[in-house]
Amino acid sequence: MTDAHKIALTWKIRESLRLEGFDIYGIAQAAPHHEDGHHISEWIAAGKNGSMQFLERNLDKRGDITSLVEGAKSVIVAGLRYYSNEPPAGNDNYFVSRYARVKDYHTVVEEKLDRIQKIIKKEVPDALCRVFCDAGPVTEKAWAIRAGLGWRGRHSMVINKDIGSYFFIGEIVTTAEFLYDETSARDRCGDCTLCIDACPTGAICNDRTIDARRCIAYLTIEHDGPIPEEFSGKTEKMIFGCDRCQEVCPWNKKAVPYTDKELAPEFTISSLTRRDWLSMTPDDFKKIFRSSPIKRTGHNKIRRNIDFANYGASEKR
Ligand code: SF4
Ligand code: SF4
Repeated sequence: MTDAHKIALTWKIRESLRLEGFDIYGIAQAAPHHEDGHHISEWIAAGKNGSMQFLERNLDKRGDITSLVEGAKSVIVAGLRYYSNEPPAGNDNYFVSRYARVKDYHTVVEEKLDRIQKIIKKEVPDALCRVFCDAGPVTEKAWAIRAGLGWRGRHSMVINKDIGSYFFIGEIVTTAEFLYDETSARDRCGDCTLCIDACPTGAICNDRTIDARRCIAYLTIEHDGPIPEEFSGKTEKMIFGCDRCQEVCPWNKKAVPYTDKELAPEFTISSLTRRDWLSMTPDDFKKIFRSSPIKRTGHNKIRRNIDFANYGASEKR
């Protein structure tokens, strides 16, 4: 591929990403980064993945993105903001993490990136491309940083200096070649420890990772079985996720509500009252959350979370 072709393709794809509604994007050169696999291995060895055993598979691939697409040269990383400015949970409802108040991001981001990969294939007919969004053995945060989208905050999320941390990440791994963005790993957390101080369960580790076993997001979404008693009262009204560490982050003060129409939910989840949640049958649940990431967690776990939140509240009385 000539330099002129690379420049033209880079421009075209960046413009296509913008037209798809992505707020931030960058392109990194694909290469093995075995340190990614090592970091995850250490985290897993310490048991911090809880029961998420799927993270234990394909550790070698997590350290070598080129093993996912033969001859991969580039990793395109795109971010789509999802912040929504709804009131926090009051006495009459429960808290659902902001990322779940919009349509299931897996579908939205994958569809957008799928359209982009078609453009790449049209421009470079022999190019191989694979799209990822929170699925597959891709170290997404590390690649977002390599593509210049931001830095890893103490709460482990990637933060962008302009839009904060409320954004979804998706990637295209491809054999096509581009001009690459400069990595901007500058740590802008400084001396701040607000997220660590605000975490209700002490889940944030010193090495900018999360101990999933203590994180309310994990406990209310991924964890099977009863929620350990030691967290009683700490989940407050949270029944799906927890945004506390992001809410207190100064870099999210500038967060503005999303505008991408494809993210718009079929209804406003935060308008559901406690009574609505409690009277919801499994069939209602399937219908109501058919296009929401909440459906993956299932009715039983949500009921467990509600019972745990109610139990914690009654304990405090
Ligand atoms: S999501 Fe909540 S529980 Fe998990 S690390 Fe952040 S503040 Fe702590
Ligand atoms: S709250 Fe402070 S320490 Fe935590 S991620 Fe934000 S800037 Fe970094």
